[in-house]
Amino acid sequence: MKILDCRKIKLEYVDNIKKEIDKLDRKLTLTIIQIGNNEASNIYINQKCKLASYLNINIDIKKLDYNVEEKEILNIINELNNNDLVDGIIIQLPIPDNLNLSRLQNEILPEKDVDGMTYVNKAKLISNEESLIPCTAKAIIDIFNYNNIDIMNKNIVIIGRSELVGKPLFNLLINNNATVTLCHSKTNNLIQYTKQADILIIAIGKPKYITKEYIKKDAIVIDVGINRIDNKLCGDVDLDDVIDKVSFITPVPNGVGQLTTYEVFYNTLKAYKIRKEK
Ligand code: NAP
Repeated sequence: MKILDCRKIKLEYVDNIKKEIDKLDRKLTLTIIQIGNNEASNIYINQKCKLASYLNINIDIKKLDYNVEEKEILNIINELNNNDLVDGIIIQLPIPDNLNLSRLQNEILPEKDVDGMTYVNKAKLISNEESLIPCTAKAIIDIFNYNNIDIMNKNIVIIGRSELVGKPLFNLLINNNATVTLCHSKTNNLIQYTKQADILIIAIGKPKYITKEYIKKDAIVIDVGINRIDNKLCGDVDLDDVIDKVSFITPVPNGVGQLTTYEVFYNTLKAYKIRKEK
């Protein structure tokens, strides 16, 4: 099948961690800090709550006012850092523009940073040391592993250099011996790079931007983008246009996003283990 529906992969991976979680000496807790009442963040939180319920993990949502002061959020994070029963802490995106996201993220204890966004976890990823890895990057590696896609001898091109997706993915792929080119909005003649890609990964947030002209014949295409057109979800790739040219493609919905939520709980379990071993 050309379309890599990731729902089945997710179910298998989820069941693997469920077996481990069921054997733990206590229930895991993930705390989500939500600031304001953004519609997208409500959707992401609901997805996490559903999976947490299946995995028998506590979700503690700290819902803060849109106008909350940064100092108050920092105090809350400190309390959570010091609470031994809290395994993971997430600042749900998006947050109001007046807040300094990096400052908030870096207040989180690296061992509880299940989004992998603290400087400590970013540095460890760059140095190829064991760390909590950002969920979307890890999801993509899991898709390759599940489908026995050997990335070592492939020419991989990523479009998008965000802190959340492109940069951690670049590091994770090179740690796994891939050869990677990272493109972005200032890349001149993007198509010249994408046409060389055995594996093309797109995370730009531009609906159906990538058409068949950008793609090498028989390429594997990983579409990370999640966009909405007329209330329907679509990716950064025009799937109908490219389908005859690719060997595999992840769809939107039911692609990478399926695994991203799972990775949050994979990291929550990992965070528990890291603290236990200390
Ligand atoms: P972001 O922070 O807005 O970054 C977008 C990146 O794309 C930037 O590096 C930007 O370049 C680059 N870009 C934008 N337009 C471009 C163009 N025309 N050509 C080449 N590069 C271009 O976005 P993000 O947080 O990485 O998210 C990207 C997309 O992935 C969004 O649709 C988001 O919803 C989705 N997403 C999905 C998942 C999932 O689980 N599936 C998880 C996270 C995000 P510059 O740096 O030069 O500005």
